[in-house]
Amino acid sequence: MLDEALDLFLGSSCVGCSRPGRMLCARCREGLSAQAFPAWPTPTPAGLVTPWATASYDGAVRELVVGHKDRGQWSHRRVLGGLLASAVRAASTALDPTVPLLLVPAPSRRGAGRQRGYEPTAEMVTAAARVVRTERRVVVADLVVSRGPVVDQTGLGARQRGDNVRGSMHCPSPGLARVCRRWPVAHVLVCDDVVTTGATAREVQRALEAVGLAPVGIAAVAATRRRSHGPVLGPGPLRG
Ligand SMILES: [Zn+2]
Repeated sequence: MLDEALDLFLGSSCVGCSRPGRMLCARCREGLSAQAFPAWPTPTPAGLVTPWATASYDGAVRELVVGHKDRGQWSHRRVLGGLLASAVRAASTALDPTVPLLLVPAPSRRGAGRQRGYEPTAEMVTAAARVVRTERRVVVADLVVSRGPVVDQTGLGARQRGDNVRGSMHCPSPGLARVCRRWPVAHVLVCDDVVTTGATAREVQRALEAVGLAPVGIAAVAATRRRSHGPVLGPGPLRG
């Protein structure tokens, strides 16, 4: 009844199964993976720290990510933040729990976020931090910015993506100095929505390392499934 009423008023339907009603129905939400796995891209950019992802980038998750990033469906940030929180947990399992986590969102292309007045990745990381904060100290810091010019990565291959983003990001010092004052010791995780070739994550990692902050891992909502004989990307949908 509620879903039908919502559909009547909002004209929405589930991004997973197209059922009229909520943008993500209860069944599709339950079907989302809750278990993160190492998601190494093939080929792996040299020096990339371990990337973790909670879902493969298809089906409902793909719709959620695209809707959140490109269609202004900002209410998806909570579900996406929950998936990202699982990846953050997995990436930090072996780390000293008394040391805070410092989550650094991958920056949007210059201008992209400002045009919309909403930074999708940063908002999603903040939602994930809210979940993880119940278990350990965590802070989100926009330490890395994109200085462009970088073209949209869609449609580019692994090498082109690497060439496109290399050297495109940097860590402006005021933000960094502020964080280092507050968090002199922290485990740094790079956070993003999707790991595709790993080029973006590797560039964020490089920009952080250039100012002396070495990330210990990458946490992402999803990873693309490689069609080549790459590593198996982990289990299918799990409940819980
Ligand atoms: Zn559904």
